[in-house]
Amino acid sequence: MPLHPKIVLKGGKERHIRHGHPWIFSGAIERVEDSPQPGWTADVVSYDGRWIGRAGYSPKSQIRARVWTLDPAEEVDASFFQRRIRAAVDLRGRLGRLDAAGGCRLINAEGDRLPGLVVDRFADVLVAQINSAPMEYWRETILEALEVAVRPRAIYERSDSDSRGKEGLSKRVGWVQGKTDGGLSVEIEEFGARFSVDIERGHKTGFYLDQAENRALVRALAGGLRVLNCFSYTGGFSVQAALGGAKEVVSVDSSQPALDLSAANYALNGLSGQNGDERFPHLCSDVFKALEGFRDEERRFDLIILDPPKFAASSGGLERALHAYRKLSRAAVPLLEAGGILLTFSCSGAVSPEAFQRSVTLALADNQRRGRVFRRLSAAADHVADLGFSEGAYLKGLALMVE
Ligand code: SAH
Repeated sequence: MPLHPKIVLKGGKERHIRHGHPWIFSGAIERVEDSPQPGWTADVVSYDGRWIGRAGYSPKSQIRARVWTLDPAEEVDASFFQRRIRAAVDLRGRLGRLDAAGGCRLINAEGDRLPGLVVDRFADVLVAQINSAPMEYWRETILEALEVAVRPRAIYERSDSDSRGKEGLSKRVGWVQGKTDGGLSVEIEEFGARFSVDIERGHKTGFYLDQAENRALVRALAGGLRVLNCFSYTGGFSVQAALGGAKEVVSVDSSQPALDLSAANYALNGLSGQNGDERFPHLCSDVFKALEGFRDEERRFDLIILDPPKFAASSGGLERALHAYRKLSRAAVPLLEAGGILLTFSCSGAVSPEAFQRSVTLALADNQRRGRVFRRLSAAADHVADLGFSEGAYLKGLALMVE
């Protein structure tokens, strides 16, 4: 690596970086000196020559560089990554999320000052996802540092996100170190429930760890209730509701493999016999269609969970996404008994909590119903996010009592 490639910013483009936002978009750059290769570290300087930080360069991406450090004394080398990884692991320890049988988000990319790197822990197995060219450049160093900091039984790489294409990287999937006896499914314990995680084919790294605390909330609320879990995936909310004593839990998802794993997760928790349990049905359907069907049948529920996939991929699709959130809540609310509970989520980073709340407010008004918020929900604590990086707070939800 040459000593000092340099990224010179346009005027005024350094402020958000100083506030903790680590992305430098191509449009913010005045010029790049000494032609750094993908992944190389460059000094970032303001238009008038002030040193701002060090960043990893990614020539193919719109996010042209990601800040590593704002400290002039901090070099980007192997010990840098060892320190950052150790700090991330220590933080999960302080949050009480290092129980051996459990799962947690061990490294949350920008939130742990390691942009482009996600590492989830499922018991003693780590699943790592490298999403940027600079992180790819340091791949060996990172894997070694993870090994030293955690001593996992195995590390599986799930570098198959779409963002890799934008970085000029191809996908890479497979064991990078060790192997489990159970193949590609790993069992974890989460707030008193057991879940089987398919690390090979599951979404993201296999499981939505971001909803862990919200699933625990559902468990606490569900006693004696008729629960409808929309977009149920592998049954995270469903199983916790059932363990919490729900009278009935209906799970709706359009993916049969996800529903099969959900049924297996009920069984893992001793909640159903060979042929399933009629209190816990699974419905393979589009959620909007299912809601319509329930409405026609005049079905009623006491607790409805809406946890759809990302409706807005970027700020470009914002209006359409807000309309979809409104439409979804509008279709669900008529099924809710008076005094019932609605838990509704958005995981679109481009949708602000305020805009999301407005879409839900309108959906209730469309039904001449009113809601009172008793919890504002977010991703679990192990998904730390920098104050200055609003994209880090992508998951938002409202827990409402609906009159
Ligand atoms: N709540 C889950 C995660 C939901 S992920 C958990 O806690 O684990 C979103 C799910 O929505 C996926 O399982 C996907 O299969 C499903 N899905 C996406 N679009 C859908 C649609 N239109 N109708 C039904 N399910 C859909």
